[in-house]
Amino acid sequence: MTQDQAHQAFLVLNAGSSSLKAALYGPEGEDPLVSGQVERIGPEGALKLRTAAGEILPPPEGADLTSHAGAFAAVIASLRAAWPDLRLAAIGHRVVHGGAAYTAPVRLDAQVMEDLAKLSPFAPLHQPHNLAGVRLAMEAFPEAPQIACFDTAFHRGQPFVNDTFAIPHRYYEKGVRRYGFHGLSYDYVTGELERLAPHLMSGRVVVAHLGNGASMCAIYRGRSVASSMGFSALDGLPMGTRCGQVDPGVLLYMLDQEKLDTAQIRQILYNESGLLGLSGGLSNDMRTLEAADTPEAHRAIDYFVFRIQRELGAMAAVMGGVDALVFCGGIGENSRMVRRRICERLGWMGIEIDHGLNARSATIISSEFARTTVMIVPTKEELVIARAARAAAQGVAGASSAGEATSAP
Ligand code: ADP
Repeated sequence: MTQDQAHQAFLVLNAGSSSLKAALYGPEGEDPLVSGQVERIGPEGALKLRTAAGEILPPPEGADLTSHAGAFAAVIASLRAAWPDLRLAAIGHRVVHGGAAYTAPVRLDAQVMEDLAKLSPFAPLHQPHNLAGVRLAMEAFPEAPQIACFDTAFHRGQPFVNDTFAIPHRYYEKGVRRYGFHGLSYDYVTGELERLAPHLMSGRVVVAHLGNGASMCAIYRGRSVASSMGFSALDGLPMGTRCGQVDPGVLLYMLDQEKLDTAQIRQILYNESGLLGLSGGLSNDMRTLEAADTPEAHRAIDYFVFRIQRELGAMAAVMGGVDALVFCGGIGENSRMVRRRICERLGWMGIEIDHGLNARSATIISSEFARTTVMIVPTKEELVIARAARAAAQGVAGASSAGEATSAP
């Protein structure tokens, strides 16, 4: 970054329970100038920031990585050491939950913070940490516009039947709804499809975001009409360590018969399930499972593929067919084996991939005469946030003020 760019820089923050991810963008461009994180905030905290040229930014002397405040200060000090003239024109925050009301990026102020804090019970593992990160940034840079971008926003226009559960309707009124997540990724991929294959924007697209977290979204005419994730980030597909769809009766069994408490059940569903649980504790990482070639690893991959195929069939039924299937996320972008396995036996849907193109991870991997286009679009969730921050700094649409959003439930 030149010192000129340093006057118009945009910071993207994603504050989690034990990590603080950060990316710095200039006024233009798709890729961050610097990105990285403080991981394992606590006694073993480590700061890793890397420039676009691959240079590692050294941690500042005496950095205290035992708290989020210390981690944030260390990130800023490290950026300032590299660019003494650094001026942040705006800061964009990833906020997992925007509830029913926030359907677009929003400029953060006291009222919005109050609304968002009320959503913490809906995402207790993420929302309070996201908001703590916002507070730190607001204190340190009171002049810079602070913009929240939500993982839920992309899905908010979904039809009622996809938004609800068949439990007493009062829960829906209280906000127990199917919010869907990974919305920043779907937003980015939709924008890319508009650029790469605009004709698909008038059609029926299924995007499979397959990473450590995994979900799928049915996009009809550019809008989300169904998603595999629901009320929490647990529902739908199996993930690295999260269970995906599970019969609620199983939870009652754990409570009533095994006498587990909610903390124990949370631990099982979030941290011990998914690929890790299915593979008997072998790994949550697809690369390791692919390399292992054991019955345990096959079991995990088989279930992963089965659930994705099943969800794809359901989403095609919801939209009356499918014109394109798009892969993204670490597994979707890189695992030719998983893509091949998913697309096998889907000829009836017009899905047929070209194995050469799939092996090369080309942008379009469907065979020339296939009815349904199959694509790989590497996702850039941070860029969606950086764009919203840039828009806010210019005072243009893309980040409405609090007054323009109705208050969250
Ligand atoms: P997150 O949801 O944490 O952002 P990623 O999108 O980075 O996760 O995805 C991580 C997953 O992608 C891991 O399961 C990893 O094994 C898988 N992955 C990354 N590269 C490859 C590869 N070359 N082949 C197979 N799987 C891969």
